[in-house]
Amino acid sequence: MPYDKTKQAKHVDTIQLLTIIEWLRVVKQLDVHIDDLVEFYSPEFPPKVVRAKLTNLLDKALIDGCVCGCRGGFSLTHHGVNLLKEELEKMDSQE
Ligand SMILES: [Zn+2]
Repeated sequence: MPYDKTKQAKHVDTIQLLTIIEWLRVVKQLDVHIDDLVEFYSPEFPPKVVRAKLTNLLDKALIDGCVCGCRGGFSLTHHGVNLLKEELEKMDSQE
């Protein structure tokens, strides 16, 4: 059976994914590997979709790392950190 085609990379929330990477890296002190992120999104999103979303964020220079599974090392670029900060400030000002 093919994966559920309704689940696409665009359905993975960018801010949530950035937050997860930062949380795993800073709070859990992990060298964030693609498997950690695939596991987090399982079973809602198939690994292929998680990888596509990470590739998308790499293309936008929001994160650093490698999606092929050879190593860990996902982290936010300063561009990614700024986007996350902006979003958190927006949430604060809505309260
Ligand atoms: Zn690699």
